[in-house]
Parts: sequence; structure tokens; C-alpha cells
Amino acid sequence: MGLEIRVGRLDHKVAEVFATEEPRGLDALVFEASNVRFQTVCMEAAAAHGVARLVEPLTERLVEPGYKVDALDYWDTYPVSPSEFRKASRQAEFVERVVGTQPDLVSELVAPHFFADGPETLELNQALAGMTVQAFRSSGKPVRAILSLPRAMFADIDFVRNVAGAYRAIGIHSIDLRLSPLGGEDDGPQKIESALQILEMFRTEGPPTILGYQGEIGHTALALGLVRGYSTGIGFREGFNHSLAMNRQRRSQSQTGFRGVTPGVHLPVADVTVQRALANALYNDPSIQTRLACSLGACARDLHAPTKHPRPHFLHSRTARVGDLLQYPEPWRATAERNRLLGATEFRQKLNEHHIPTYGDSVKTRRIPTRTIASLIAAIDRRSNDAKTA
Ligand SMILES: [Zn+2]
Repeated sequence: MGLEIRVGRLDHKVAEVFATEEPRGLDALVFEASNVRFQTVCMEAAAAHGVARLVEPLTERLVEPGYKVDALDYWDTYPVSPSEFRKASRQAEFVERVVGTQPDLVSELVAPHFFADGPETLELNQALAGMTVQAFRSSGKPVRAILSLPRAMFADIDFVRNVAGAYRAIGIHSIDLRLSPLGGEDDGPQKIESALQILEMFRTEGPPTILGYQGEIGHTALALGLVRGYSTGIGFREGFNHSLAMNRQRRSQSQTGFRGVTPGVHLPVADVTVQRALANALYNDPSIQTRLACSLGACARDLHAPTKHPRPHFLHSRTARVGDLLQYPEPWRATAERNRLLGATEFRQKLNEHHIPTYGDSVKTRRIPTRTIASLIAAIDRRSNDAKTA
């Protein structure tokens, strides 16, 4: 139970050191299939320190051009089309090639999947997941399925019940549920409530659920006991938007060379990840910098460590938040989460009113949103009122 961290292409050294510290709140490291070959030492460190290991197969990205596939031998021609997998024999071959390459060091196997934009792809995903359970039973390892789909497809809650039940019936050990578009700091009450209701249905009818790429909503869902955990990248991937990711992938096709992702900087108390330029300005503002100090790890000795080394800072901040929550007995977690969200709201408002720098781009676009956390507070209140009147 806890946080799953997706290890990006440049993250393995930082993640390796972090795993050896056996941080509270860290549940799993998720490696990208295309990077596994040079990240095995990090995977070993996780194994030695009791952190679960999984491989993100990246299959949902192969249906669009622009993905560098030279490290993956999943299929003979790219982009692949889900319609190529109508026959069970083709499905079996795909399962073998995707799952068979996941190294022995993984603690859980991950079935191939495609973005489920309709009933056919949804059924194909279930077939691939079921086949993975069957084909790899002798490995003795549990199987995870990834269900990545438009949130709007789950508008009908009876449909959610059927899908969740189908995954449980297949014998899936855990499901990584990615709802698109969702997450970030600017979601309103309708979206938040719909996401939480979907998770409630998965809790009763489906396998244990990980809410994929939801740094903010995932934490509240964990506090409400709706999920086994949630995932983020290191300083990014705190929300999920499939069509945006695909647009970016198509655009990157025309560019050459790898461009690394600049991780955002996590601000303590405000509990939000912001762009580095804004973080630099705030950490250089004498009237607020001590409030932004981080007391964890190497940050305790250097006020500016969060902006200098955003990755280790992100890792200890985000996992400590989970560790702190899980220390509470279950019935107290929602209240603890409400208090954290309130504190974050107040501090963000203070930053917005007095400390957001006015130079450069407009102040308005740099203000730290509070819409998602306000919606989460309302959702917690609604549930505690329901519990009182029940
Ligand atoms: Zn720190």
C-alpha cells in the first residue's frame, strides 16, 4: 500500500539511492520497458530493500507514430494497430513478446494494453490480461492490468461495475487505472466526484486499484480507502491526459535526439509541484523562503536543495506525505487529509497574494491553482456527512 514511482530515463541513479533508504510510503518502482536494460541495478536495489518492481510495457504508445521502438521487440511493424489482434494466436504471440521480456527481478508482471477508446479495445485488453494470467501462471508471479481510458466512457456506473468485475474474474492481482483527462491542480467538483465514484465501484467489484498518474487526487483516494495506492513520475506525471501525450509524441517525431524532461519542484506546505523558474523565485524571496524549507534528507542542510536537486527532494516529500497518512488508523485518515488540504489551500493563497513574482509572464498564469484541492475537500465533506446521516 502506498506510492508507486515511475522511473524515467534519467531517474534510475536517484531512485536507486532512494530505494536503499527504505522510505516509508514507497510501495513500488515502475520501470519503462525501453529503459530496463540500463536500469537493472536500480531494480536490484529495490528488490534488496523490499520495494516492489514492475515494468510499464508502453504498448499504448505504439499505436501512434513517433515512439522510439528500437529497444522494444514487441511486434514486426510499427505503429501497431489493435485490429491486428483479432485472432487469439496473434494475442498470444503479443503477450509472449511483451511479458516474456520483463526481467526476473520484477515482483509483478504487467499485461500489454491499449488505450481503451471503445468497447472493442476494452475487450481486447481484457483478453490480453486474461491470457497473461494463463500463460505466466507457472512463474508464480501476480499479474497487473493497466486500464487506460477516457473518464467519460465510465459515465454509466453499471458499466463500471461490469468492467471492474470482469478484471477480478480474470484473476488480475491489481489494476492500474488511468482516467483521461484527469488530474493536475485545476479540476472541478464534477470531475473529482465522478473519478471517486468510479474508484468506489472498483473497490467493491474489482481488483485492488492503483490510481495512475494522480499525485493530488490519488492521495485523497488513498485517504478515503478507495485505492491500494497511486502513482506519479518524479517531478511530473501528476495528472493524466492521453490525447495530449499522443499529440506530443506525434510532434516529437519530427525532432531528433532525446530531450529529457525537466522535473518540477515540489513546494512543501503548499504541497504542489511547480515549474523550476517559479520555485527559484520563491526560494530566493527572503520573506517566504524559510517557510518553504524542507527538513528531509540532504535538504535539511541546504535551504536551496529543493531547486538544486528537485528529484531527490520530490521523492522524499511525496513518499513522506504517504507515510504520514498511513501512520493514522484508517478511520482517521480522511480527517487528516482534509486538514492537509486546508493547510495547502491557505498557503497557496498566501503565495498567490503576496509572493508570486510579477516579472516575466503574466502573474495570472503563474498563480498556483486551488481548484482541485477545493473539490477534494468538498468530496471528503460529502462523504463524512453521508456517513453521519447513514
Ligand atoms: Zn527536500
